[in-house]
Amino acid sequence: MRIQNYIDGQFAAPANGAYLPNVAPATGEVYGEIPDSGAEDVARAIAAAQKAFPLWSNLTAAERSAHMLRVSQRIEERLDELAAAESKDNGKPVKLATRVDIPRARDNFAFYATAILHDASESHDMGAQGFNYTLRRPIGVVACISPWNLPLYLFTWKIAPALAAGNTVVAKPSEVTPATAYLLSEILDEVGFPAGVLNIVHGTGPNVGEPLVSHPEVPVISFTGGTATGARISSIAAPMFKKLSLELGGKNPNVIFADCDFDKMLRTTLQSSFANQGQICLCGSRILVERPLYDRFVAAFVEKVKALKVGRPDDPATQVGAVVSKDHQAKILHYIQLAQEEGGTVECGGQALYPEGAEGGFYVAPTVITGLNMGCRTNQEEIFGPVVTIQAFDSEAEALALANATKYGLAATVWTENLKRAHRVAAHIHSGIVWVNNWLVRDLRTPFGGVKASGVGREGGFEALRFFTEPKNIYIDLGE
Ligand code: NDP
Repeated sequence: MRIQNYIDGQFAAPANGAYLPNVAPATGEVYGEIPDSGAEDVARAIAAAQKAFPLWSNLTAAERSAHMLRVSQRIEERLDELAAAESKDNGKPVKLATRVDIPRARDNFAFYATAILHDASESHDMGAQGFNYTLRRPIGVVACISPWNLPLYLFTWKIAPALAAGNTVVAKPSEVTPATAYLLSEILDEVGFPAGVLNIVHGTGPNVGEPLVSHPEVPVISFTGGTATGARISSIAAPMFKKLSLELGGKNPNVIFADCDFDKMLRTTLQSSFANQGQICLCGSRILVERPLYDRFVAAFVEKVKALKVGRPDDPATQVGAVVSKDHQAKILHYIQLAQEEGGTVECGGQALYPEGAEGGFYVAPTVITGLNMGCRTNQEEIFGPVVTIQAFDSEAEALALANATKYGLAATVWTENLKRAHRVAAHIHSGIVWVNNWLVRDLRTPFGGVKASGVGREGGFEALRFFTEPKNIYIDLGE
């Protein structure tokens, strides 16, 4: 597949004519090419988005909604094809892409297409003196930059509210996983989406991402990715006073009290540790277990982890697929080595795997490590792979201290049947999201995002529509 940019409603080769190889993580084979675009392509896309802005922003909410619902509908019609493409491009089990990634991309468009119909502006009454009303206006050209772990899911999670609010968009998917963003541009074309409203430019962070976030005509940036990249983007955006939303890394605690529903906790912890090969920003990579349950938990968990089926993503029986790239595989294996140097014990996993028929692919055995303290690098740095650590705690206070002992604060999971403790712990964990007795249950109306080094701002529901609009207060005097 030779991917093209999508600018001003047209498929376009990169101005420099250069392409990068696109690799299938399942086999390590190059199976396509993606544009190695540069500043010239970015500038063209921004110009197209600027040109389209007056028309798109002046449509009624119902008209924008209708355009977006057609995209959602077409994603549904092409769901299996999109899921197969996502799985091939990213290495994730096709079952996961079919059940989670692509349905969520469809829902992102549908959710914001309908949310905008319910978005009322506020008024503030001052009695006989007068009143205020607050208009929320679209801002202009928005930059949307997304990572490779949930490619179409996260790409559309920022694009949809930006468009619904009346902005036009220049979007850059990760160069590692461009396929479904390209298929989305085909869908835009098929449904006759207005030209220039959503432009998609493929290429690397330095060559496409940086010119995009640096451009003076892009006042808003919505970014999901690593904390270091987020810091780099902030340093570019801050002196230009750009509006910035950053969804960054995590090192999420999974806090398990001895009184939990053991079977449900065990099943769910397997998911929260290894779903998508552990490459979900919300995965719980630090498992904290109350001491009376510790030995039982470690034994039962390790047994279940060993039984996970690691294999080709296109095999419907696969539970854990390939990690996204050779570099990423090397990074994960490096951390497993480091964990051992730091005194950790590998309870299971710990090495690369070479499934039959996919020997060139990038697989890592699901890995469980015990015996580390919270201060070590393995417990402080985001690995973003199928690797978890387990530590015991003796009291609620210690559990909280351990849970809060990293620079990150994205999500946490708490397992207990004690209602008061559940509320107390949830309230005191430093994170943007806490699940009690479950994981990854998402309601798109809720605020989504992290604290500390996990990000700035919130996505989801009306939070996102507020972010992608500029409030303007107007006072009307009623006095004589
Ligand atoms: P990166 O930060 O490396 O990349 C994210 C995106 O930014 C990619 O599209 C990348 O392009 C682009 N980019 C890279 N450098 C620049 C730059 N200088 N200027 C502008 N754009 C740039 O993250 P990963 O793709 O490795 O994704 C994994 C990270 O994402 C993890 O840290 C994970 O925790 C985080 N994440 C956070 C989520 C959240 O909601 N908080 C959700 C999902 C993931 P390219 O890939 O082409 O280099």
